[in-house]
Order: sequence, then C-alpha cells, then structure tokens
Amino acid sequence: MAKKQFKAESRRILDLMIDSIYTHKEIFLRELISNASDAIDKLYFLSLTDDKVGKNREDFEIRISADKDKRILTISDNGIGMTKEELDENLGTIAKSGTLAFKKEHDTSDAVDIIGQFGVGFYSSFMVADDVQVLSRAYGSDEAWLWESQGREGYTLTKAEKADCGTVITLKIKQNTDDEQYDTYLDYYKISSLVKQYSDYIRYPIRMEHTHTRPKNGDPKDTETVTEDETLNSMIPLWKKAKSELKDEDYNEFYKSKFHDFEDPLLTIHFSGEGVVSYDALLYIPKNPPYDFYAKEYQRGLQLYSSGVMIMEKCADLLPDYFGFVSGLVDSSDLSLNISRELLQHDRQLKTIAVTLKKRIKTELKKLMDNDREKYEQFYKSFKLAIKYGLYSEYGMNKDFLSDLVLYHSAAQNKLVSLKEYVDAMKEDQKYIYYVSAETVERAMKLPQTERVRDQGYDILCMTDDVDEFAIRMLASYMEKTFKSVSDADLNLVSDEEKQAQERAQEENKDMLAALKAALSGKVKDVRLSDRLKSSPVCLTSDGPLSIEMEKVLASMPVSDGSVKAERVLEINPAHPVFNVLSTLGTDDARVAKYANLLYDQALLIEGLPIEDPVAFSNAICELMV
Ligand code: ADP
Repeated sequence: MAKKQFKAESRRILDLMIDSIYTHKEIFLRELISNASDAIDKLYFLSLTDDKVGKNREDFEIRISADKDKRILTISDNGIGMTKEELDENLGTIAKSGTLAFKKEHDTSDAVDIIGQFGVGFYSSFMVADDVQVLSRAYGSDEAWLWESQGREGYTLTKAEKADCGTVITLKIKQNTDDEQYDTYLDYYKISSLVKQYSDYIRYPIRMEHTHTRPKNGDPKDTETVTEDETLNSMIPLWKKAKSELKDEDYNEFYKSKFHDFEDPLLTIHFSGEGVVSYDALLYIPKNPPYDFYAKEYQRGLQLYSSGVMIMEKCADLLPDYFGFVSGLVDSSDLSLNISRELLQHDRQLKTIAVTLKKRIKTELKKLMDNDREKYEQFYKSFKLAIKYGLYSEYGMNKDFLSDLVLYHSAAQNKLVSLKEYVDAMKEDQKYIYYVSAETVERAMKLPQTERVRDQGYDILCMTDDVDEFAIRMLASYMEKTFKSVSDADLNLVSDEEKQAQERAQEENKDMLAALKAALSGKVKDVRLSDRLKSSPVCLTSDGPLSIEMEKVLASMPVSDGSVKAERVLEINPAHPVFNVLSTLGTDDARVAKYANLLYDQALLIEGLPIEDPVAFSNAICELMV
C-alpha cells in the first residue's frame, strides 16, 4: 500500500526525533500518557451530560503493557479515540506549527532544545521506537483505523478492528546501542518509576500487570509466581497535596510536563482561596517568554478544573492581559462541569477568583522585587513589556495597580530603580520625576536636553521601550509627583533672574529668531532660546502632547501613514558662541537661512532622526571648512 507522506514540518521534527541525541528520551512515556489522559478527559466530560457514553468515572483507565521478548510496549486508553481523518490530521501534521519557526529564529543546531522546549508530543515515541502503531476507534464511530509508521518514509492508514472506543499505541522498542539501553523501557520497575516521576498526578489509574515471585503461605523457601494488576500513579493532583509535602522539584517537574517548558519556572505560586468561591490555584511564572508570547495568536489563560476535572484548557477570564505570561491552573469545587456551556452563569464566580489571583500575583511579584532583586530583574527583562502595556491600555485603568512593578534605568544610579525608589531619593527641592526618552540608555544620556536637569542634581529615568512614554503620560504622576520629560516646554529650572534675562534676550533677538523660523518654515513650529542647554548649541523639543520619541514610535507602526507629527521646536543655546555669531548677522543676511538649516540638521542628528538632505548638509559643512 502506498505510504502517505508527513507534512514537511512534521518530517523535520521526525528526523530530529529519530536521530535524537536527547538524553531524556524517557519523556516519550509522559507524552503518551498525557495524550491518553486528555483523550479520557474528553470522553469523561461527554459522559457527564450524555448517558449514551455509558461509562462511569471508575471505568476509565490507561493501561501499559510490556513484552520484553518481542520488545513491544503498548499504552492504551479508553478515551475518545480518533477517526480516520483525525489520525491523518493529528499524527500526519505536527500540531505545534510554531515549533520550527522558533527553531529557525533561534538557530539551534540540534534537537535537544526543540524536544526539551516543546515536548513535541506523540512524535517523541520515535526516539525509542522504530515502528509505531496507533490503533484507534473514535467514540460514536463503528470503525477502527490503524496508523502505522517506521518514521521518515511516511505512514499508512488501514481499516482495522477494535471492540471499543479508545486508542492503543504500540511501540516496537529500538535495539540497544552502546549509548542507550532501550530495553529499560520494557522493565516494569523502570516504567513504574517513570510514571511516578512524571505522571503521578494523572487523574485516571495507570495500570500495568506485574509478574513477580513471592513467598507462599509465609514460607520464604516456598515461592509462587503471581501476576497482579498494579496502579502506578497516586492520582492525587499535585495542587491538592499539602504544600509541606511538595518539593520545588515536584512543582518544577509538573510545570515542565504540563505547560511545555524546558526550564524550571521562575516563580511558583500555590495557594487556596476561601470565601464566596473556594478554589486551589497553582500558578507559574516562566523564566522566559514562550516563543509566541508577543505574537497576536498567543493565547493566555489558565487551565480550569472543577473538582479535579479539567473543563477548560485556556480560561482567559482568569487572567488580565498584563499577567498573560502566567500559566497554571485553578481548581474549584464550586464550579459546575458544564461551565463552558453556561459560562455566563459562572461569570461572577470566575471574576471573584480572577480578582484574587491578580492581587496575589502582584503581591508575589512585589515581594520578589523587594527580596530578590536579581530574580525580579530576570522576570522584568522577560515580561516588562506586558506590564508596561498594562499601564497604558484600557485607558490607564490598571495604572495604579501596576505602577509599583515597573523599573526604569536611573541615570544617577546607573541601574534599574522602581518609581518608589526614585521618589524616595528625590532631592528636597525637586518637584518632578524627570525622564528622558531615547532608543537606548547611552543615547538618552547623551541628549543635551538632560544637561540642565542633571546639573541640578536631579536623577533622570531613561525610557527606552516604545511603549514607555505613552505609559508614563498615562500614569501622569506617582506618589503625587508629576512626571516631566526633560524635553518639555516648561522645564522651569532657572532662577527668576535667569528667566528675566532670558526673556530679555528673547525680546532682543526676536527678529533673528523670526528669521530663523521663517527659514525653517514647514519644519519647525518655533525657534526659541533655550534654558535647558549648557554645552550643546541646539536641541529639538516639541510643543503639545506628542513628543518626538512618540512620533518615532507611531511612525514605525505598520498602520502609520507618517501623518502624525510632533510640533517641533528648535531650541538654541543663548550661551553658546554659535549664538553670538547669529546675533551679529543682519536678518536679511543670506547666511541666516543656511545656518538655520545647519542647526536644524544638527538637532535632528542629536535626536537620532534622519536629516532630509544629507548631501546639502555635507556641502554646507564643507563650505564652512574651506
Ligand atoms: P499535543 O498532544 O500536544 O496536541 P501530540 O502530537 O502529542 O500533540 O498529539 C496530537 C493530537 O493527536 C492531540 O492533540 C490529540 O488530538 C491526538 N491524540 C494523540 N494521542 C491521542 C490519544 N491517545 N487519543 C486521542 N487522541 C489523541
């Protein structure tokens, strides 16, 4: 019979599996058991509302059997099964289509990362088997199908016989090699310990026959060989166990197997809530963002259980967007099983839980920030954007809740500080929280706008993420201190005398400034004398609500037509020798226009903006030089 080919991506994954040098090949068992358990979940769920299923809770099981001589290992379940189409679709194509995209992006050269990171489910069986058969009969169907593959060459699908619905996976275990004793996967004790290690919490019994000899009638010399059915797992969900009984390792293993991460989580939060609704929650914050975390398709949410039965894979209502990186589960006995159908009824219960969850997550993060800054910064590096978008989105609805969690680079301390730390360290006469916005901290520190503020001995927070300035404007103030950009029009850092002197200078030079402005018509809204510059001749600032950095961000968005512009102001340093030159020129001097453009281009360059006509700029400079 002609073989069907695997879809391209699946083939590549398969190749990785077959030649795998991955050292934890044993995880194939965890993956197959987890699939079996999911399949049972689905049928069990159905059985609750549909008598036709004809099964009770205790009828469900996962069964393992091993035949050492034939090197055959089978894992069977009496779950929902798969139709022919489903076998084709589910096992011919890899479900996690992002997997390979991720691999390309990160250019990892071997299979280790990819297997570790994604588990890769069913295909991991090819790490230990050179022939895999899946015999399945879907619930409600009267025919069974056999899927079989030896790997790369593709697979066959043939009609088969099976009495009941469910799935039997038969693995022909590979021959041993110098490096790998594959036959340990046929050993009862090994299998039993793997189940304990990885799948203990599975809610359905994982049973296996155990043939062993034992003393007969209490006489050690007289033994008998018996075969007994053993249940290998405790079936107690991890989150139902007492915290004191659980080690970090238990939490971490559970996390990795359940939530497809290859690293231990950064933070584990396990608690129960009492009150209107009671529940157990087990939450994890990963070390790194999932590969698709910042993609639109990313689905946040927690698993939702009702008395140990999973009723929803990703319940988004339990988590706000800004904590979308949290994974984990909530189990409540106060929710009925039909929740997905009667979601509205449970809306209030879910909301109540969601409110406590988000508070708890924040408290734990704050604790981490206060007690283990290094770890918090690790968290922050991974998820700061989520928090910052949270400040900004929904019209700033959550800004007060989240503002304790943000950190910004402090210019004075050259490290990340919280807003509280900034305010606590403010000088007595300091009214504002100053910030500067630029692509990088280094750039920010070089901006001439910062000179005067720093001179005053005030610290400046560096905003380097696109969302920063938008979020800060939304936040407006923290602990009653208003945020102020070093580029704001009214910096007001000068004394009254200085101010008067400046107003005088502005008045005296009003014709020159007007001439400069005219020369830059269409480019700037105004040309002014500056009170924020010290050594630099010029800088660019803006009037109105939109800063130049914000303009840059908006312009870089895919939907932008470049029409949203900041109202640019060219500020000139009256104390700079260049200004002396300007003030000696007559307003009708041809040099005025030339210098105006030169100064403007310089200001653009300082700001990190492109200049309109680099050739003209270069020529003008040469002219000055020669
Ligand atoms: P994942 O389980 O992460 O989706 P897998 O490659 O392990 O990825 O499985 C692909 C799909 O095949 C599953 O989503 C499920 O629909 C189906 N499947 C796998 N094993 C079984 C099983 N024992 N019973 C029913 N369906 C299964």
